[in-house]
Amino acid sequence: MRLDKFLANHGLGTRTEVKQLIKKGNITVNDVIIKKPEHQIAEESDVIASDGDVIRYEKALYIILNKPAGVISATEDNMHTTVVDLMPEYSHFDLHPVGRLDKDTEGLLILTTDGQFSHNVLSPKKHVNKTYFARLDGEVTPAAIQQFKEGITLDDDYKCKPADLRILGSGEIEVTIQEGKFHQVKRMFQAVGRTVVYLKRIRMGSLELPDDLETGQYRKMSEKEINLVQ
Ligand code: URA
Repeated sequence: MRLDKFLANHGLGTRTEVKQLIKKGNITVNDVIIKKPEHQIAEESDVIASDGDVIRYEKALYIILNKPAGVISATEDNMHTTVVDLMPEYSHFDLHPVGRLDKDTEGLLILTTDGQFSHNVLSPKKHVNKTYFARLDGEVTPAAIQQFKEGITLDDDYKCKPADLRILGSGEIEVTIQEGKFHQVKRMFQAVGRTVVYLKRIRMGSLELPDDLETGQYRKMSEKEINLVQ
C-alpha cells in the first residue's frame, strides 16, 4: 500500500494533508525518514511513525450505520448531506459506503476503508443477500409472490434472480434479494403494480440491523459482525 493512503486510512489527515506531512519529513518507515507519498509499505510488518509516534496497524475501519432518510450514500456532494458527513470524527478516514441506499431509504449501511471487503459484499458471485422491510400502497397478490419467486422482469428487461417475499401484514412485507440493481426493490414492486412508500434495509448476509442502533446512529463493527456479512 502507498504510504499516503496508509496514513489517510489511519486518520492522520486527508490525502493532501498527509502528503504535506510526508514531504516535511515527519514520517518514518522503520526509523528512516521517507519523503515520497507513493512509497510502498508492508502495512502489517513495517513500523510507520509520525513525529516518532508509532501508528498502530489496524486492518481497516468498518462502520455500521442506521441510515436516516434524507442523506445520500456518497462520500461527498455539493448539494446534499452524505452518509460520511454524518460522522465527522471519521472525516480523515478514506471511508466509502458499501453499495448504495436511495436518499429516502433507511436502515443498514456499512462504511469501510476496505475496498476488498466492499468488492466481496457487492460481487454478484458472492451471493450476499439483502433483506428489506417495505410498506406498500396496497396488498400484493399471490400471483405477485410467485413472480418474485420466479424472477421479476424490470422495466429495462433485466430479469432479477429469485427473491423471497414474506407478507407481514396489510401492505407490509419483507423481501430478500440477491442483487443490488439501481432502485431494485422499488422497481420490482412497480413491475407488479405496487408502489413502495417506505423502505428500510434490515439485513445483509447474516448481519441484522441491531435493535439498539437508532436511526442516524453508527458505531464500529465487531469482528463477528464483519464476518456475518460475507
Ligand atoms: N432498492 C431500492 O429500490 N432502493 C434502495 O435504496 C435499496 C434497494
